[in-house]
Amino acid sequence: MLKVVKFGGSSLADSSQFAKVKEIVKYDKAREVVVVSAPGKRQSDDNKITDLLYLIHAHIKYGVSFDTVLSMITDRFTEIQKECGLKTDIASVISDTFSKVDRNTSVDFIVSRGECFSAMLMAEYLGYEFVDAADWLCFDYDGKVNAEASEAKLRELKGIYGRIVTPGFYGTFPSGEVHVFPRGGSDITGALAAAYLGADVYENWTDVSGILMVDPRIVRNPKTIARVTYDELRELSYMGASVLHEDTVFPVRRADIPVNIRNTNDPDDPGTIIREHFDDELAEENERFITGIAGKRNFSIINIYKSRIGEAKIGLLRQVLEVFDRYGIPVEQIPSGVDSFSVVFPSENIKTRKHDLMHELEALEDIDSCELTEGISLIAIVGRQMAYRSGISGKIFRALGDNKVNIRTIEQGADEINIMIGVYNEDFDRAVRVLYESFAR
Ligand code: ASP
Repeated sequence: MLKVVKFGGSSLADSSQFAKVKEIVKYDKAREVVVVSAPGKRQSDDNKITDLLYLIHAHIKYGVSFDTVLSMITDRFTEIQKECGLKTDIASVISDTFSKVDRNTSVDFIVSRGECFSAMLMAEYLGYEFVDAADWLCFDYDGKVNAEASEAKLRELKGIYGRIVTPGFYGTFPSGEVHVFPRGGSDITGALAAAYLGADVYENWTDVSGILMVDPRIVRNPKTIARVTYDELRELSYMGASVLHEDTVFPVRRADIPVNIRNTNDPDDPGTIIREHFDDELAEENERFITGIAGKRNFSIINIYKSRIGEAKIGLLRQVLEVFDRYGIPVEQIPSGVDSFSVVFPSENIKTRKHDLMHELEALEDIDSCELTEGISLIAIVGRQMAYRSGISGKIFRALGDNKVNIRTIEQGADEINIMIGVYNEDFDRAVRVLYESFAR
């Protein structure tokens, strides 16, 4: 059994977080490969090391001394080193590194140092080998990861050292120059390492106990989703749930390695497991039907009406969509009636062009009337358990009806993993709460 475990910035923010990480890693012998971020915020008004490093680069660019910022960074790392009782002279490593930095040093090199220093300290703390990401994660010059070369190097290093700590976020071009992923990219490094080493699971340790069923700003203390498929995850994140982006874990998805989101501050919580599909279903999931609820505010609906439209409907739909296409407005839904259809889209796309758009639509020959409604929220009720089961939409409509929430639009894809409803913005929070209450218990 091999587990690749990645710890995010909040899990490494100070020595007490380092201690939690050590306990977690030592608890399970299978946790042989550890990927770390740079230390993040200790409290909400604190700084992330990576942000401070970007600031250093800005100082260099404008020719301003970066000593103050560097000493903030040095203090953070030295404190961790001392409080964890480590020998690595991190202050000297940092000052050596930055004594060589000048205007020609790339921003990627500078901002990647947070992960590098963090991994050096963690390696000593765990008694694992420090393996620099520069020694295995290879980028081609187009910025894409060279999977073949990276896999071969990582396998070799893992074979030599057995238990390793490696920094997330960066790798190198063939020239040896450092290149970083986008912000938050240590998640990608962890996923790549898990895929290359054929891990049994990729554990992503953060500061929440997995993915929540609903936005905690709307529902207090919502339940965690125990198991979610990538398709469900995509629906939820598209609709605004802040979850791990599926792109970042693509390497493990392709290799069919389960991702387990865990909480460093609550290691007994099993967190959330993400997989392509689950062969069995838990009784609890079976009863609940739905996996999660997510939603977004501020959509508009344009309702297009033409009496006795009949077969001309397709042609009219095409003309209307051409107008939307010309305006570059992404269409979210097209609910349809006998003599009418509606187009639902994000309101921000027509802020200044509302009247132009309506004029153009009204000018289309075949239209009797055309009406704009703003202030609509879309809510997605997502769940693989909904497919081929009766009674779910009934339950949704009853719950909302009983609570006097007026449903403006309804849509369900044929894969039946998502039912999307539109309500007025002012009913949004209440509708989400009502749905959660009726399904989550
Ligand atoms: N430290 C980097 C950032 O703050 C990368 C990461 O944490 O994943 O974006």
